Amino acid sequence: DTTAEFPLQVDGLRKSFGGITAVDGATFQVESGTLTGLIGPNGAGKSTTFNLITGMLKPDTGTVTFNDEDITGMEPHEIANKGLVRTFQIARELEDMTVLENMMLAPKHQRGEKLWRSVLPGVRGEVIEQEEELLERVWEVLEFFEIDHIAEEYAGNLSGGQRKLLEMARALLTDPDMLLLDEPFAGVNPSLEKRLLTHIHELREQGYTFLLVEHDMDLIMENCEHVIVLHQGRVLTEGTPADIKSNEEVIEAYLGG
Ligand code: ADP
Ligand code: MG
Repeated sequence: DTTAEFPLQVDGLRKSFGGITAVDGATFQVESGTLTGLIGPNGAGKSTTFNLITGMLKPDTGTVTFNDEDITGMEPHEIANKGLVRTFQIARELEDMTVLENMMLAPKHQRGEKLWRSVLPGVRGEVIEQEEELLERVWEVLEFFEIDHIAEEYAGNLSGGQRKLLEMARALLTDPDMLLLDEPFAGVNPSLEKRLLTHIHELREQGYTFLLVEHDMDLIMENCEHVIVLHQGRVLTEGTPADIKSNEEVIEAYLGG
């Protein structure tokens, strides 16, 4: 087991786009088994930070360490293979496929080749066995998220909230250690939001680690045990929700933009 006490460490991360410095020396770490919130006003650099962590963007300087391994500059599928996974919106071309088909494709799309290679031709009997194993795991995850009854529905017909459940189900299928969620509740009705949160808490109790970007302060304060505040591309402060709530600098950052 390679799980570290602080599986994710971000050190001096910096990224500019032309004249705009989106991330400006961000340094923080995420403790294993926690639901950690990453908050900050619009344009603070939250999404860029996520993209740098997951390999969608390469940093100008700084390092990203996952389970004590330097993963800076690695390709997204390599990082996913290490167990650090973000949710993805369902691509347009996958909307014409069913929920079940989307799930069967997930390991190939997200986790890269590792799991998928195991279902490619080898000994024929072995292939079938591993495909069955994958299918079994797919149903297990669909049931966990309570979307097994819509397995045959086209992804394009799902409600906003059902989509979010499918997105998280796909990410989970890749057997990650840590999940990065960028505004997973956007466009989700309150009852589905509650369900999603319940699932996230259940998974956290099972040992998964979460880093959550969310603009709803109340939601972050009620659900996260640790909160990191990003402002102008760097960490303004971090602490418990109670610490953050009463922090004058944080209030100013939000009011001042
Ligand atoms: P947040 O997610 O906290 O709202 P972002 O990471 O999306 O912030 O953006 C941080 C800053 O970087 C913003 O000023 C944004 O306009 C800028 N930015 C983000 N991505 C790009 C890009 N690809 N090209 C140019 N500017 C960008
Ligand atoms: Mg963003």
